[in-house]
Amino acid sequence: MDDASRVIVAGAGLTGLTTACMLQRAGMDVLLLEQDHRPGGAIRTYREQGFVFEAGPNTGVLSCPEAVELIESLSPLCQLETALPEAGCRWVMKGGRFLALPSGLAGGLLTPLFTWKDKLRLLGEPFRKPGTDPDECVRDLVLRRMGASFYDYAVDPFISGIYAGDASKLVTRHALPRLYRLEQQYGSFIRGAIKKASEPRDERSLKATRQVFSVRGGLERLVDALAIRIGSDRLITGVASLQVRPGPEGFEVHGVRDGAECHWKSRFVVLTAGAHALPSMIPFVGSELMSGLSNVRYAPVAQVALGYDHWEGIPLRAFGGLVPSEEHRKVLGILFPSSFLRDRAPSGGALLSLFLGGMRHPELVNLSDQELVALCIEEVSNSLRSHSKPVLTRVFRHFHAIPQYEASSDLRFRAVREVQQTFPGLIIAGNLRDGIGMADRIRQGTEIAQEIKNLSASV
Ligand SMILES: Cc1cc2nc3c(=O)[nH]c(=O)nc-3n(C[C@H](O)[C@H](O)[C@H](O)COP(=O)(O)OP(=O)(O)OC[C@H]3O[C@@H](n4cnc5c(N)ncnc54)[C@H](O)[C@@H]3O)c2cc1C
Repeated sequence: MDDASRVIVAGAGLTGLTTACMLQRAGMDVLLLEQDHRPGGAIRTYREQGFVFEAGPNTGVLSCPEAVELIESLSPLCQLETALPEAGCRWVMKGGRFLALPSGLAGGLLTPLFTWKDKLRLLGEPFRKPGTDPDECVRDLVLRRMGASFYDYAVDPFISGIYAGDASKLVTRHALPRLYRLEQQYGSFIRGAIKKASEPRDERSLKATRQVFSVRGGLERLVDALAIRIGSDRLITGVASLQVRPGPEGFEVHGVRDGAECHWKSRFVVLTAGAHALPSMIPFVGSELMSGLSNVRYAPVAQVALGYDHWEGIPLRAFGGLVPSEEHRKVLGILFPSSFLRDRAPSGGALLSLFLGGMRHPELVNLSDQELVALCIEEVSNSLRSHSKPVLTRVFRHFHAIPQYEASSDLRFRAVREVQQTFPGLIIAGNLRDGIGMADRIRQGTEIAQEIKNLSASV
C-alpha cells in the first residue's frame, strides 16, 4: 500500500486504539503514534500485593452497542466483566453519613436525602413546561424541574462522580444529552423515562444495557488486547514533538523517536491526544480557530488507591459513596471496586479508590502524596468507620482528567467542523467532543474508522 492511502492516528488512548483497531480490521494501512512509552492513555492497571487497582477509570457504562461489540470481538485476549449486583446500590453522604440513593417509589418517599417539600413537588414534574434556553446549565435545569434537595443530594454528587465537575457550569445539552432530550422530546423527565422504557428496541440497541463494566483482570487488559490486534509494527510509542503539516497529497507527519527525526506521509490524520496537545501538533491552524478548538477546561483529578488486607469498617455492599458539595469535604467520592468486581483484593480485604480535586478543589491535586493519603485515610475513618491502616497506598494524578462540556462547547464543535472542512482528511477526535465515558470513546473510534473507510472507498 502507498502513503496516499495511509491513516495516521495520533494518541494511543482508548479513542486512538479503537480507531486504529477498526481501521486495521477493515484492511487499511494504519499507523498509531503515541508519545508515551506505553499505550492506554488514561487507562492503566496495577497489580500489587494481591490487589488489582486502576490509575484512571475504574469502570464504564455499557451505553452503546459498539462498546459491547468491541470487547466481545477481542475475546479471548480480554473478557468483558459486568459488575456484581452490589454496583446497583449507590451511596450519597448527608450529615457526614453515607445513605443509599433510593431506587423505588417507597424508598424515594422515605429517604432522608430529599425534603418532603421537594418529594411532593416532584409529583408536578410531568406537568412543568420544558425549558427554552438551549445553554441552560445542569444546576438550573434540575432546580427548575425537581428542587434544591434533589440537586444537592443527587445531581451535584452525580456530576462530581462523572465529570469531577461543577453543575452550574456544565451545559445540559452537551454534558447530559440524554437528560436534555428527555425534557425536550417528551416534556418531562418522568414522562420521558416511562415512554422510553416502553419503546421497542432493535436487537443491536438491546446490547446497550447500561450495566457497569470492566474487563477481567483490569481495564489495561483491554488496552493490551487492542494493541495486539493492531500489531506491534503499526503501533509506535515514544514519539515526541509530533507535528502535522498539510502536504501536496494529504499530510506530512514529523516526530522524534530515540533522538532521531521521523517522517511519515498519510492521506488521513486522526488526532486523539486531547485539546491541550493541539496547538503544538497542528500549528498551521490559525490562532482564532485554534482558540476555539482548544477552549475546553479540564478537571484535574487525584485518585488514591487504598488496599486493606482485612476490612473492619462498615460493610461495603455498594458501588461507592459520593460526597455532595453541601457536605464541604475534601474527597469527591469513594469507589469500592472489590465489592462489585471480582478478584480486586485478597479474600477478606477491601480495595477503595478515592477521588479528590476536580473543579471543586483543583488545588488539592498539588498536595504531596503523603498529604493526599492522610486526607483519604481520615475520610475512610470518618465515613466508613475503618480505623485499620491500609497495607497499600498509591496516588495517581491526572492534570487533564475530564474535559468540561461548558458554554464554550458550541464554539469548539464549530471549530472542529471548520478545521475538518478546511483540511480534508484531518480529523479532530478524542473526548473534547462526543462524550467523556469509555463507551463514548469506543463509539467515536468505531464511527471515525467507518467514515474513513467510506471516504477512501469513494476516492
Ligand atoms: C481519573 C479518571 C477517571 C475516569 N473515570 C471514568 C469512569 O469511571 N468511567 C468512564 O467511562 N470514563 C472515565 N474516565 C474518562 C475516560 O477514561 C477517558 O475519557 C478516556 O479514557 C479518554 O480516552 P482518549 O483516548 O480519548 O484520551 P487519553 O486516554 O487521554 O489518550 C490520549 C493519548 O494521547 C497521547 N498524547 C498526548 N499528547 C500527544 C502528542 N503530542 N503526541 C502523541 N501522543 C500524544 C497521550 O499520551 C495518551 O496516550 C476517567 C478518566 C480519568 C482521568
